[in-house]
Amino acid sequence: MKPRTWVVDLRHYIGEDGDFADMPDAAFAVALHMSAIVEWVTLAGAGRELTQTNVPCCRRPGRRRCRGPIVANLDEREDAVVWSCLACHEGGYIHHWQHTLWDRRGESALGRLPSGTTH
Ligand SMILES: [Zn+2]
Repeated sequence: MKPRTWVVDLRHYIGEDGDFADMPDAAFAVALHMSAIVEWVTLAGAGRELTQTNVPCCRRPGRRRCRGPIVANLDEREDAVVWSCLACHEGGYIHHWQHTLWDRRGESALGRLPSGTTH
């Protein structure tokens, strides 16, 4: 199976209260994966720089879980979060992440990182 390119609109996973909507487990796994990448990139300073995240790859080529690191950054217009796995090259684009619960830009810009976070 070739690596896929995911194009995700984060709004599709969000309910009226701004948190995750009710959805099947498979969709929820995707939503968790994408939102974790968004959170990481925006906490890293909404950076254009390619950043290695702590988000595990969700692919299982040959039924063995991929252990590749996922790197991500914002595209030029800060429109999409662009991510890819360095090992299996699965990757994609996440749109409409702005102003979701996982958009942490304000926090990093003001230096209000969650307590316990070290940099
Ligand atoms: Zn991978």
